[in-house]
Amino acid sequence: MKIETLAIHAGNHGDPTTGAVVPPLILSTTFERAADGSIVEGRDIYTRASNPNRRALEEKLAALEGGSEAIAFASGQAATMSVFHSLGGNSHVILPDDIYYNTKVIIDNLYANFGLTCTAVDMTDLSAIKRAIKKNTKLIWVETPSNPSLKITDIQAVVKIAKAKNIMVACDNTWATPFFTRPFELGVDVVMHSTTKYFGGHSDILGGCVILPADSSQSDLANKIRTFQTVGGAVPSPFDCWLLSRSLSTYAVRMPVHAQNAMKLATFLEAQPQIEKVNYPGLKSNEYHKVAKKQMTNGYGGMMSILVKGGQNESMALASKLKIFKHATSLGGVESLIEHRYSVEGIHSTSPENLLRISVGIENIDDLIADFEQAFQ
Ligand SMILES: *Cc1c(COP(=O)(O)O)cnc(C)c1O
Repeated sequence: MKIETLAIHAGNHGDPTTGAVVPPLILSTTFERAADGSIVEGRDIYTRASNPNRRALEEKLAALEGGSEAIAFASGQAATMSVFHSLGGNSHVILPDDIYYNTKVIIDNLYANFGLTCTAVDMTDLSAIKRAIKKNTKLIWVETPSNPSLKITDIQAVVKIAKAKNIMVACDNTWATPFFTRPFELGVDVVMHSTTKYFGGHSDILGGCVILPADSSQSDLANKIRTFQTVGGAVPSPFDCWLLSRSLSTYAVRMPVHAQNAMKLATFLEAQPQIEKVNYPGLKSNEYHKVAKKQMTNGYGGMMSILVKGGQNESMALASKLKIFKHATSLGGVESLIEHRYSVEGIHSTSPENLLRISVGIENIDDLIADFEQAFQ
């Protein structure tokens, strides 16, 4: 089945007792055993370990990414932690230098005591990746397009380097989502998502997941991550799972609109004298366009960043003049957002001071462009 159909039907088993077309929300934290105290086959026991709404969601997430098993978490950060945790102590991770800021913070702040170390490299420079490999390198973490500069990593090329050294490759596919990039088809071992973003799509659910490729359920990695979820307990509530499944029903119709709007807005912004550069892999002028064209499917996503002529003040002033684009963090929702990353990330930020990150929503594109036109005046 195609992604549009999977988004609606995967994991949706309705409710056989009532005939409900939409699966019911089951809030109960505990489930009754048989009269003799034995466990009823197919029935859940305790909701941290498993529950019907989480199972339905995980089935949908696995299907969308073309994986065998998805493991849902209370946030993208918890999902990322589960992968780092699975490596064990005295492990080394190679990360992109342009990356979702808090991914690296997990290693530097939370896992440093654990013996986990990392090296940040420009993932578009394959020789830099090779140079960063150490004896205890266990994982290469890819994020493409990257945050906030929209660098495109050639996933197949990274996988080739990693496979030769028996190193695992994980991909944070939050920005592209399987609509625009299919990491498993490119050889990646594990996919992570912040489902808070495009999967949720409405800026009202926090969540994350880890997905394992086909033929890997019951693998050592799958078991470790499942245990981190069920024993560690950073689980999404049944209501969040139910909401996310509902949001995913319209995922495949939202994504093309994000991408079409982003392409038109990027083209418009590139021609404006107030703009120094537009980072959007769909633009022919973009330095990563060739790799993006080879690797991405159905378009180039809904994220971009712009470098405003001037510095922080000029960027902030532009963001404040916009009326439809809300000045707020996060991304992937139906509404357009804009954010000055440097001031958000703090003193360790590597984001340029004149960079604004834009999450292009699914409003009418003419209104979005008109909003920038009035702000430039
Ligand atoms: C938001 C985000 C995360 C973190 O997810 P949370 O749901 O906020 O914990 C990780 N990676 C990327 C690329 C993100 O955009």
